[in-house]
Amino acid sequence: MLTMGVDIGSTSSKAVVLKDGDILTYQLIPLGTGTSGPEQVYQAALANAGVTREDIDRLIVTGYGRLSFQHADKQVSEVSCHAQGVHFLFPSVRTVIDIGGQDIKAMSLSPDGMLVNFVMNDKCAAGTGRFLDVMARVLDVRTEDLGEISTHSTKEVAISNTCTVFAESEVISKLASDEAVPDIVAGIHRSVAKRVAGLTLRVGVTPDVAMSGGVAKNRGVVTALEKELDTTILVSEYCQFAGAIGAAVIGRNELNKKAK
Ligand code: ADP
Repeated sequence: MLTMGVDIGSTSSKAVVLKDGDILTYQLIPLGTGTSGPEQVYQAALANAGVTREDIDRLIVTGYGRLSFQHADKQVSEVSCHAQGVHFLFPSVRTVIDIGGQDIKAMSLSPDGMLVNFVMNDKCAAGTGRFLDVMARVLDVRTEDLGEISTHSTKEVAISNTCTVFAESEVISKLASDEAVPDIVAGIHRSVAKRVAGLTLRVGVTPDVAMSGGVAKNRGVVTALEKELDTTILVSEYCQFAGAIGAAVIGRNELNKKAK
């Protein structure tokens, strides 16, 4: 049985093909909704799996841009897909923190991976991937390098503004006063962690806790959040694919149910 999950985010498009419950291929295009990213990632997943659309038994689409994707059998909400995706990766997880390009979600799961409760940030970019992307640009470093850079910090430089625009000015002023880049980055990670922890505490922190979304690839944010929440956080190598994996898992479960 082949199922595909496509997750169209604000920043990137992801696709996963599951074959009998195992990941056959996973593809990412760093272009989100409203671009050619969704079509590119869909074609890349088919090509990489060596199949055509007719071979895919069920295709579920999720994410911010799911409404404009034409190849799917069904659309499913991001929170349900993330819950199922993280449960697939780590069955013991009861709390999921997802940070993507423009939103933060904290979810609590039942032991069988069903969504019990969730909270999301408002429209503000504070604490999101976009916030980190803007700060990286100001510091003239790559977002992918922020985690490693923060390991060289000797003292955290506090960034007190959570608003992206004000925090950007604050970072520029820290650079002007000769603060070291790793210390500023550590301060930025602390600021993200504080904001995300506040949201997570609203759903409660039941272990095991996992992080998903692209920002989970930033070890500096994960470590700062572990400190804020006083807990260990699990991160899978497939963290950015949790939504797409969950969509493919939901497709598989639907087919299994029908076959019974
Ligand atoms: P969306 O689903 O909203 O498109 P993603 O879950 O794909 O978002 O996350 C995108 C964000 O993840 C980017 O804005 C960026 O800040 C962050 N990100 C992506 N790749 C990396 C990486 N290798 N290291 C650190 N951060 C990353």
